Amino acid sequence: MNVKYKRILLKLSGEALMGDRSFGIDPAIVQSISLEIAEIVRSGVEVAIVVGGGNIFRGMQGAAAGMDRATADYIGMIATVMNALTLQDALEHLDDPIQTRVLTAIAMQEVAEPYIRRRAIRHLENKLVVIFGAGSGNPFFTTDTTAALRGAEINAEVIFKATRVDGIYDSDPKLNPDAKRYQHLTYDRVLADDLRVMDITAFTLCKENNIPIVVFDLCVPGNIRRAVMGESIGTYVGGSCEVN
Ligand code: UDP
Repeated sequence: MNVKYKRILLKLSGEALMGDRSFGIDPAIVQSISLEIAEIVRSGVEVAIVVGGGNIFRGMQGAAAGMDRATADYIGMIATVMNALTLQDALEHLDDPIQTRVLTAIAMQEVAEPYIRRRAIRHLENKLVVIFGAGSGNPFFTTDTTAALRGAEINAEVIFKATRVDGIYDSDPKLNPDAKRYQHLTYDRVLADDLRVMDITAFTLCKENNIPIVVFDLCVPGNIRRAVMGESIGTYVGGSCEVN
């Protein structure tokens, strides 16, 4: 496999693990995502993953129902740890297992290692898949922001935002049948046109650290491999309109 990137940060939304369910985790989906991750790991790519928790709990929902926002966010962060452990288990139970480490930003040493930046980098150098759980450890943030933060910390060359939409559009494709998908965008264009790529905190971190973002549909089999090979899938956002 002719890979474009040597070290990537893969952001998996919680919803991506849900499949067709309305809540929780679909084991078949987790298995197929694991197989795709295994394929790129075997081709030598260093893979770090940030998992979301929206398939289980979102802080905003708790706050809307009257909970204290910070408390609700901590519950959301703990939800991401469930997803991280699920993904770890799936990767390590493949016929040809992939070794992983879950590192959490909220210490829970009985189930996972604490997040230590240098240790994360060491694991990656040793070709272990690093799964970051518990978001950034701080309420009022998101796992997209965590992806940008950890991506910058580990010197990831790119952030793959693997989700359930196939890129960034000029208008909502569900409402407008003529909506156009962008193949390439600059950071400045995203900001000028107020396009939704990530939340603004996450996006700003990527822009300031010049980390490109590739948004693509995880439901299409083979998309992680295509993204790592630099094929033009989804939408590429970067400092210049580089052809990816
Ligand atoms: N969260 C948080 N701080 C972080 C990351 C996540 O408080 O650094 C909480 C927040 O409540 C969020 C929830 O964890 O709603 C789940 O994460 P997110 O919504 O980003 O997951 P996704 O949408 O990717 O599934």
